[in-house]
Amino acid sequence: MTVRQAQNITWHPGHVTREERNNLLGQRPCCIWLTGLSACGKSTIAMALEQVLIQRGYPAYVLDGDNIRHGLNKNLGFSPEDRAENIRRIGEVAKLFVDAGLIVITSFISPYRADRDRVRSIMLPGEFIEVFVDAPIEVCAARDPKGLYAKAFRGDIKEFTGISPEAPYEPPLSPEIHLRTDTMNVEECVETILQYLLAHHYLQGGVGAKGRSS
Ligand code: ADP
Repeated sequence: MTVRQAQNITWHPGHVTREERNNLLGQRPCCIWLTGLSACGKSTIAMALEQVLIQRGYPAYVLDGDNIRHGLNKNLGFSPEDRAENIRRIGEVAKLFVDAGLIVITSFISPYRADRDRVRSIMLPGEFIEVFVDAPIEVCAARDPKGLYAKAFRGDIKEFTGISPEAPYEPPLSPEIHLRTDTMNVEECVETILQYLLAHHYLQGGVGAKGRSS
């Protein structure tokens, strides 16, 4: 898919600085990019993490694969070109949400290393946190919460990541966080991400904490 280049457009800088926004929300915004095979646990971890962050007063928002394909990306399929465009658009949306001050959690297979690296490259240093949600494909296929592996094994789904030869999964080479969901439970996975956010000063009190103390 070619992306049309618009002409005669100018970037309008705003009057609110990033620091003002961060101080208001009590956090350093970032994009927590979950990547891994279908059924490895991305959505489950994303929703659980979002809930914990919100409960503790940290504005967070999940961008989830199927949900985005219902709307923004409903004109895209699963060819390598469409997958690349899918991730490019999501990356741009995530960048806007990070700019708005949110902790964005994305839940997409995002199988190609180059596509993920491109998203990293459009964000500022430290804003993109790559999380490899890792489980052996046999474990994912046995879980199969949406019945997709069964369909793929029957040949009813073409281009199924990790199963079809034309749809490989390229694991991250040096993710910020590596979760093994075959040996860790959901709570341990969420806690690992929270500890990373705390250790790297992304969580700085939050809006809830400020509201309570005033
Ligand atoms: P994905 O979004 O990667 O396709 P889902 O989150 O939809 O995967 O499904 C993962 C399945 O694996 C769920 O049924 C979930 O309960 C189960 N599961 C088991 N252990 C974990 C774990 N540590 N983290 C996340 N999900 C897990």
